[in-house]
Amino acid sequence: MLKAKSAEEIELIRESSLLVGKTLAEVAPMIQPGVSVLDLDKRAYEFIKDHGGHPGFLGFNGFPNSLCISMNEVVVHGIPKAGQVMQDGDIISVDCGVLMNGFYGDSAYTFPVGEVSDEVMKLLVNTKECLDLGIEQAIAGNRVGDIGYAVQAHAENAGFGVVRELVGHGLGRDLHEPPEVPNFGRRGKGPKLVEGLVINIEPMINMGRKEVQQHADGWTIYTADRKPSAHFEHTMVVRKGKAELLSTFEFIEQKLEIRA
Ligand code: MG
Ligand code: MG
Repeated sequence: MLKAKSAEEIELIRESSLLVGKTLAEVAPMIQPGVSVLDLDKRAYEFIKDHGGHPGFLGFNGFPNSLCISMNEVVVHGIPKAGQVMQDGDIISVDCGVLMNGFYGDSAYTFPVGEVSDEVMKLLVNTKECLDLGIEQAIAGNRVGDIGYAVQAHAENAGFGVVRELVGHGLGRDLHEPPEVPNFGRRGKGPKLVEGLVINIEPMINMGRKEVQQHADGWTIYTADRKPSAHFEHTMVVRKGKAELLSTFEFIEQKLEIRA
């Protein structure tokens, strides 16, 4: 059986998650054509340190940076590099982790750079809807497969591909805890969700085929067909009737003046 977190543990995860949300909002206005993605990473590092946290990804299994920045055909785990400059029409997934008071926060948002095509915007909207539909299933008594089914059905109904190799996860003192939370699955299958369980749902949705490849750097995950991919991630507590979000896009969307 999966283990619920205590109220104290949940509050500490909420604090780390809040700093993640504020860090994503701090870098959001920098997401513009002509800006180097490495500048976002540096800003995130400073912001997290200034607010009493540690970048959760920096040094995690040897990851070299504070943010995973994944542009266009990069699905997740992109390493921000000097000279990697955003251009009009790109999309950029920014995944941020914080470790503070012994607990992690972990959330991701995919931003359009300047004007993106209608097709790409449809992918972003669908992926965020997949996340919301997954969250609706994160209720006590449901099973992990209910989440995956909801995400997969919504993406595939739109003709998009659902990445199989990378999944959501439990979260707490470790960045990745049981259970695995796939973005595909069958209703009523998989481990039962218990009240107080903290999980991350993170759909990775490809405009084209579902297949991915890993770069020789050991991190960067690409779409096999090199079409764009989007990624949104929230942390939540499983509750009766409705999940309680611990991470937030509120600060990002205030900065972007997007209505949630
Ligand atoms: Mg993440
Ligand atoms: Mg995650």
